[in-house]
Formats: sequence, structure tokens, C-alpha cells
Amino acid sequence: MTKIDELLYVAISLDIDPDANSAVEGRHDALSSPTEHGKITIGACKRGLQKILELLDIYDIDATLFYEARTAQMLVADGMNLPKLSERHEVSCHSLKHEDFLGKVSGMPMEEESIEEAITKAKDILENIFERDIKGFRAPYTRINRTVVKVLEWQGFLYDSSETVTMGTEWTGDPFPLEIFDSNLLELALPSFHDTKGKRMSSYLWAIFEGRRVSSDYIDAVLSARDVAKGGLFIFSIHPWHLYADCQGNPFTMEQIKKNLENLESILSQLKQMQGIQLTRQDKYLKNWLVK
Ligand SMILES: [Zn+2]
Repeated sequence: MTKIDELLYVAISLDIDPDANSAVEGRHDALSSPTEHGKITIGACKRGLQKILELLDIYDIDATLFYEARTAQMLVADGMNLPKLSERHEVSCHSLKHEDFLGKVSGMPMEEESIEEAITKAKDILENIFERDIKGFRAPYTRINRTVVKVLEWQGFLYDSSETVTMGTEWTGDPFPLEIFDSNLLELALPSFHDTKGKRMSSYLWAIFEGRRVSSDYIDAVLSARDVAKGGLFIFSIHPWHLYADCQGNPFTMEQIKKNLENLESILSQLKQMQGIQLTRQDKYLKNWLVK
């Protein structure tokens, strides 16, 4: 066994999308909650993103940034220098306007043509803003189907990162081809796992910001992954807006924001110090895995 196989790889990924976004019945795109206002806001997203990027610099961590193309445009229009701020990180795609591709909430599953239009446009916008190739994709609501995967292949994406795999003794954390969708596109799946009480949880940090989880729940999961999935990848996900607002779009109190930042910082610092793990970007992990 080579040394590379003795480590667990851990990626920090951000889904950079509108504040408290939600799918809406009767439309393909998402709105910020409360959706009755018919609006998209990015105020909390902007503050959260600035803060997280600062922390990643402080802890010297390279991350994977899944940008919703519309949000990236709005942040740029709002004066953020995204290419500069994202320089050390991987830039990936999180759709055009947070489309509900499968129509689970909208009630209108999208046709191949409109899925292709949305993904092509999103990729173009991001490649123009960041002036680099976009190779990774995460679907809104982490929902994909055969058509979405087919479009990703046509568009030259190297991987998707929307599926969830439950951690267990069989879990390796390795990329795998999306054979369930008749595709060879590689999947870098998100882990789901059980806490010490046996309750299922995901690696999205939202539950911690809503006060429903503590940082040790996540750290414990990484420790157990380290034992069963050497050479594999454990992906964390964060919505930047969630540091500053809840799922309903209500701003958090100063006290809660402080707590959220402390929790996030505690996770980053513990990961940074942990033995037997290596923090990495998803694209870099995949590149190394492919030549292994
Ligand atoms: Zn999203």
C-alpha cells in the first residue's frame, strides 16, 4: 500500500446560491424565502462567502466552490472580485438559476432541451467570469437524473457531486461511474452517516447553523471515515448564506452568527490538525485518483 492510500481525503465544498433559496410550484428556478415576495436576495450569501473565504485563507485550506451562475453574476455586480477571491480554490457549477430539474416541487420536470440550455449557459457564464474551465457540477437540491447526467457529459464535465452514499463498512469514499444513469461520468458522492445515537445525518453543515447539531457530530464522522475509507474522499458542504440567515430567510441574531462562525472555525481548525487526513479540492483529489 502506498502512502497516499493511508490517508482519508477531506474536501470543503460551498454551494454558493441565493439566500434561503427554495423551489417553487409552477416555476423552474428558485426564489429566496419567503417565496411569496417573488425575489432573490444574496445579502446573506455575500457576507457568508466573504467570511468563509477569509477563514479558508487563515487556515490555509483550498476548497471547491460550486457557484450558481446567477448568484455569481449578482455578487460581481455587487462589487465582489470573485475571480481574485476564488483564486486558490476550484470553481465548479451549481446550475444557472437553481433549477428544479426533476420538477419535484415545481411540478414541471424539465425537458432535455431546457436542461441543456440552463447548464450550457451556466457553464459559459462561469467560464467568462472566472476565465477557466469548469469541470465539476453539483445539482440544486442534489437532484439529478439520466438527462442531467447526459448533458453534463456532453458539456465536458469531469464529475458530478450530487449523489449521497451512506457510510458504512462497505463505504470506500472512492469516485464511481454513474452506471445507474447509464453513464460513465464520475461521481464524487456526498457522505451520509449516523451520529452516536444512531440518527442519520448529512455532511451539510446547515444543521449546525440551525442549532440542531454540534461540531463533534461532524468530527466524529470524519474520524470513523478515516478508519474505513483510507484513500477515499469525505466531502463537507456549506451554504454561505446559512451563517447569517435561517431556512425561512429570517436573519440570525448577532449571538447566533457568532456561534455559527465559532462552530465553523472549530471544524476547520480540528480538520487542519487531525492526523491521517489530508484536506484537498475535489478536482485535485480526482486528478490524483485517476492516475493511482
Ligand atoms: Zn443550492
